[in-house]
Formats: sequence, structure tokens, C-alpha cells
Amino acid sequence: MPIYRTVSEEETIALGQQLAMELPRRGVVLLIGNLGAGKTTLAKGIVLGRGVAEPDEVSSPTFTLIHEYGPDASVYHIDLYRLDEARQVATLGLEDLFDRDALILIEWGERFPELMPPERTEIRLRPGPGNNDEREIDVRQLI
Ligand code: ADP
Ligand code: MG
Repeated sequence: MPIYRTVSEEETIALGQQLAMELPRRGVVLLIGNLGAGKTTLAKGIVLGRGVAEPDEVSSPTFTLIHEYGPDASVYHIDLYRLDEARQVATLGLEDLFDRDALILIEWGERFPELMPPERTEIRLRPGPGNNDEREIDVRQLI
């Protein structure tokens, strides 16, 4: 279970680009961490690493909820922050997305564990012990 350490936004993007090669080709990846932890930044690196967008095309789906990348929709980036109840999340049709041949990155998905597939990757981001730009990032595969 590797733990990575980054000390800047740029390094977290670079880590995402590296992880893009190592993550399963398809399936759900939960990005877990507080506001400002770097979830969207890491997702941007993963999207860039999969070669499905340019840097200025990747933004936070906080308001749009779901962003789709690639000509064949091979990467999705979802942010459930603004949804409060599983009932609201259920209207998004996530199960249909989960069945697709795509990598699905989800922020705040851990708030709705009953709606997440048990077979998934979890990436946790937390502040490092040092300066404010330090982050510890660990990756684990469930099942
Ligand atoms: P989240 O999606 O978890 O709320 P964001 O990725 O949107 O977080 O924002 C992370 C913020 O923290 C950005 O403003 C970024 O510049 C800053 N930051 C500082 N150091 C780092 C780092 N090592 N990795 C990622 N972001 C960092
Ligand atoms: Mg975010």
C-alpha cells in the first residue's frame, strides 16, 4: 500500500499522471479528503495522464456534478459534495456509469457508502506534517 508525499499542486498533478498508468483501466476510484486536500488536483492529473483532456479543460465538477472526458467517455469525474441525501444521488444514475468501460473518479463518494461498489480503489489525501503545501496520499485497492 504505497504512500506518496507531494509538496506542491504541480507535484500532485504529476502524481496523478503517474497513477493514471497504474490504476485499473476501468472501475471506481474514490478520492477522499477534506476540502482543499487536493482531490480535484489529483483527478486533473489522472485525467491528463489518461490523455483525454488538456489542462485548461479539467475543472471541478462541484456544480455540474459529473464531467465526462475522452471521445469514448473513458474517464468520468464526479463530485457529490453538494448532494445531501442518497435519494438525490440515486437520481444521477451512477449504477449505469459504473457498468461502463470507464474510469470513474468520485469526490465525496464515501458519504454514500451504500451506493458505491465494494470493488473499488480508495485514494486518501491528507495534510502532511510539514508546511501547508505538503500532502500525504495513499492508494488502496478494495477486494
Ligand atoms: P479538493 O478537491 O480536495 O477540495 P483542490 O484540488 O480543489 O482540493 O484544491 C487543493 C488546493 O490546495 C489548491 O488550491 C492547491 O493549489 C493547494 N495545494 C497546495 N499544495 C498542494 C499539494 N501538494 N497538492 C494539491 N494541492 C495543493
Ligand atoms: Mg474538489
